[in-house]
Amino acid sequence: KREAELAAAFQPAVTKDGVHVEVVANIGGLDDAEQGVKLGSEGVGLLRSEFLYLERTDAPTEDEQSQIYIDIAKALGTDKTFVVRTLDVGGDKPLPYLPMPAEENPFLGVRGVRLCLAEPELLHTQVRAVLRSAPFSKLAIMFPMITSLEEVREVKRIVAEEKAALGITQEVQVGIMVEVPATAVLAEQFAREVDFFSIGTNDLTQYTLAMDRGHPKLAKQADAMHPGVLNLINMTVQGAHKHGKWVGVCGGIASDPMAIPLLLGIGVDELSASVPTIPAIKALVRTLDKAECQKLATEVLQLGTAAEVRARLSQLVD
Ligand code: PEP
Ligand code: MG
Repeated sequence: KREAELAAAFQPAVTKDGVHVEVVANIGGLDDAEQGVKLGSEGVGLLRSEFLYLERTDAPTEDEQSQIYIDIAKALGTDKTFVVRTLDVGGDKPLPYLPMPAEENPFLGVRGVRLCLAEPELLHTQVRAVLRSAPFSKLAIMFPMITSLEEVREVKRIVAEEKAALGITQEVQVGIMVEVPATAVLAEQFAREVDFFSIGTNDLTQYTLAMDRGHPKLAKQADAMHPGVLNLINMTVQGAHKHGKWVGVCGGIASDPMAIPLLLGIGVDELSASVPTIPAIKALVRTLDKAECQKLATEVLQLGTAAEVRARLSQLVD
């Protein structure tokens, strides 16, 4: 039985009606990548690259970074997706070697891609380091906190420029995180210009509900199951699919078994989950029927509160 379970861990997650859902890992370094591979992850949907930059007095060099991206890519192999997210810090996570004035509202300030575009040398260095790992896995590069098409055009220009300079000819997909409500609402416009979306429900919830994601008193209300958030996820998927682009979810909701039938029903193509939850998520996907999930999603998207959503979804899990 144990052997059968282990063998199943390495099979793709396919629903009863034959739809493959890619189940990949959120990682914070090489150890997570290796552990993910052991647990049957089909790749990496989110490398949080911040670990390379934090708790040090100078910026990591291109060579230093590139070695780590290459090690991770090699741990995955050329058949697996490796989505690297560029540096996502801001006023709430200061870097000693970057001048960052204190902000009254750091979550609404110069963070994520905004900071990287304000510090182009930092971004160019990271993009080059990431691109150098391209031969060793199916590389994709993803930008956090995207709010405007101008940002998309600028980061794409930078990736294209560095790719040409390095002489890299492999396909490297360029995607964005959908974490800002405006981006979800305009998903169709964004989908024309990017290769994929990955929905960061942690930040999307914070910005949609106007609730600090770490606020102790609001923890319960800052719920990704709020129908306001779920309808934005739905808009994102609709917009992407209209232009033939794929959509992942890499926020905490993708590791929550209760949310999986709903995300599948909405049409999410990839779930990027915390490493230990991967075998259970793959097993759960195999018990589901996509057509039934679609009916469920249509129903749930009409509900008015997170409590109603949770009550409806809890009928499905034991
Ligand atoms: C998110 O916001 O949902 C996300 C995956 O990014 P992070 O948690 O690193 O902000
Ligand atoms: Mg985020």
